[in-house]
Amino acid sequence: MAQPTVDKIWMDGALVDWADATVHVLTHALHYGSGVFEGIRCYETPDGPAVFRLTEHMLRLERSCKMMRMDMGYSVEDLVEATKQLIAANGLKECYIRPLVFRGYGVMGLNPLPAPVGVTIAVWPWDSYLGEKAMKHGATAGVSSWRQRSNNATPPQIKACGAYINSSFAKMEAVDHGYDEAILLNEAGHVCEGTGENIFVVRDEILLTPLVSDGILEGITRETVIAIADDMDIDVMEATLVRSDLYTADEVFMVGSAAEVVPIREIDHREVGEPGVITKAIQAKYLDVVHGRDSEYEYWLERV
Ligand code: PMP
Repeated sequence: MAQPTVDKIWMDGALVDWADATVHVLTHALHYGSGVFEGIRCYETPDGPAVFRLTEHMLRLERSCKMMRMDMGYSVEDLVEATKQLIAANGLKECYIRPLVFRGYGVMGLNPLPAPVGVTIAVWPWDSYLGEKAMKHGATAGVSSWRQRSNNATPPQIKACGAYINSSFAKMEAVDHGYDEAILLNEAGHVCEGTGENIFVVRDEILLTPLVSDGILEGITRETVIAIADDMDIDVMEATLVRSDLYTADEVFMVGSAAEVVPIREIDHREVGEPGVITKAIQAKYLDVVHGRDSEYEYWLERV
């Protein structure tokens, strides 16, 4: 499917035409994966477009930069403003938002520190990541033969460009096997996450999700779901989960800014079933919150 385009991209402080937002082939990040990024969504609400938890995403971008020893040269507030300006300039009501901070053109070699840092923000319309059918009836998933990268190799806690070859390996394998999504375990066999989503399982009406220390991205949707579940009086526990917890679960769902809240109906040919009561309740609440239909969570919406 062709990449949808819009008029403008924000590049190092200026709005440039989509077609002009290009880099040199000797850009450091192209060779060594030396970049970090975010994935965010802007939703149409009754009071106009609003970005969901934009500041939290930019704060995570800043933390990713800190680990990579990259100075963005912009504050979180600057990037929040730039994002809003960009969405308005493109006249979008709803879109996906992709900020990227990367080592640019200037020096090659494995020490990234002398390479200049570039900052870009792109926006484009992007439908539900795993599709409408998956949102309603659930997606299929397979446990990957690829393992999650370790906390001491390429830390899963930062959204680093190069790290995503791990997700790509797992995603290709899942698609080859006819599944919609992959589930990655760490080397100890603990459940981690999907290729671009965190995971929750329901067992005896308790919501369980892997610990950050097992090697996952500290997802903003994960945190959102934990908070709304708590407000809905659903018990939530962060715990080490193993493969059999997936196969014996009453309900399973995945969460992420792109994927939103997606029920999982089958894992490795073991039926989980149609979306369950808790999954459906969390999904409905999440979609109400992001679309500004629930005033209780208004503080998470950043108006364009
Ligand atoms: N895990 C991985 C590996 C991801 O790429 C993402 C998407 N950013 C997530 C989890 C979910 O994170 P978030 O809810 O912050 O989008």
